Amino acid sequence: MERSEIINLLGSTGIEKEKLFKQAREIRDRTVGNKVYFRGLVEFSNICAKNCLYCGIRKGNSNVVRYDLSDNEILDACRFAWENKFASVVLQSGELSSSSFVKRIDRLLKAIKTFSGNELGITLSCGEQTRETYRRWYESGAHRYLLRIEATNRNLYEKIHPVNKLHSFERRLQALHYLRETGYQVGTGVMIGLPFQTLDDLAGDLLFFRELDIDMCGMGPYIEHEDTPLYECRHLLQTRKERFDLALKMIAVLRILMPDINIAAATALQAIDPAGREKAVAIGANVIMPNLTPMAHRKDYLLYEDKPCLDEDAELCKQCLEARIHLAGSEIGYGEWGDSKHFGSRHAKSSSGS
Ligand code: SAM
Ligand code: SF4
Repeated sequence: MERSEIINLLGSTGIEKEKLFKQAREIRDRTVGNKVYFRGLVEFSNICAKNCLYCGIRKGNSNVVRYDLSDNEILDACRFAWENKFASVVLQSGELSSSSFVKRIDRLLKAIKTFSGNELGITLSCGEQTRETYRRWYESGAHRYLLRIEATNRNLYEKIHPVNKLHSFERRLQALHYLRETGYQVGTGVMIGLPFQTLDDLAGDLLFFRELDIDMCGMGPYIEHEDTPLYECRHLLQTRKERFDLALKMIAVLRILMPDINIAAATALQAIDPAGREKAVAIGANVIMPNLTPMAHRKDYLLYEDKPCLDEDAELCKQCLEARIHLAGSEIGYGEWGDSKHFGSRHAKSSSGS
């Protein structure tokens, strides 16, 4: 697909848009199937060394009550996932790189692998780290990593991040390459509907995903947060409904571009539309991340306004998602890792030497 064709699809409305959604769903059903895989999300700490201009838990937001779950709380959440046949968890946090942080993750990975007899798959989403750290975590049991590029147009990236060494675009790209080199299933994504973002930027994002040959994608609408610097640009935003619509079109086009990757239905979709995640499943997404963060801390991991599921415990979240996924005409792949088929075929090709 050429850039101009992608831009046309992202701008489509009415019958054209419905055709896009239908095609994406058909391709999803034909290639990765109709199942949706759960990844239990544990937002284990909101302590962050960075200051991304859009994010509610950025270091500079002094209104945030900071928390760091105990090892036992994290392991209990993971045990819930395992006992409920979620098959995988995502450990997500603010970005830290101290040696105590690195060692702690290492320890947790080993503990999860041990108690689950290696049954629980682990995705990490802990930001940019050194090549050595990524290797260490991989060897201790993490096999997927999510690191959104956020925006592939460098000018846009620099409008939504401070321009300094800690927030450098090159460093982010380098980190994605390290992850690939280490052997992870690599997931990335962008925020959709950012101020200053154009359809051409979004088409560039999709082409970047194809170029990088990603295995997984998690992308969702940008939603403003009043305690962040980017809030000042809210007059430039499309309506939330328009951002939501564009996010669905991004998912559908990506499914056509990269038929066998895993695509997550981002939680931010549900912040705009209560049926947001099942709408994404209905047009091509095949992964959902039920929130397993202990209820007492959910309100402190507020990346954006109106984040959903703040007052539903893990059991309720599970029941609610089950019902929603069935409504979208899909079934849940309980007890299955649901790894990226794309990753599997790339590896099969490289080990057969072709
Ligand atoms: N600190 C890690 C990182 O940045 O990769 C993981 C946690 S971070 C909170 C996870 C994702 O939240 C980011 O990649 C970003 O895209 C998303 N996010 C942050 N603020 C957001 C906002 N205002 N609207 C939508 N998504 C947001
Ligand atoms: Fe920290 Fe991640 Fe938020 Fe950036 S997006 S401020 S790295 S938690």
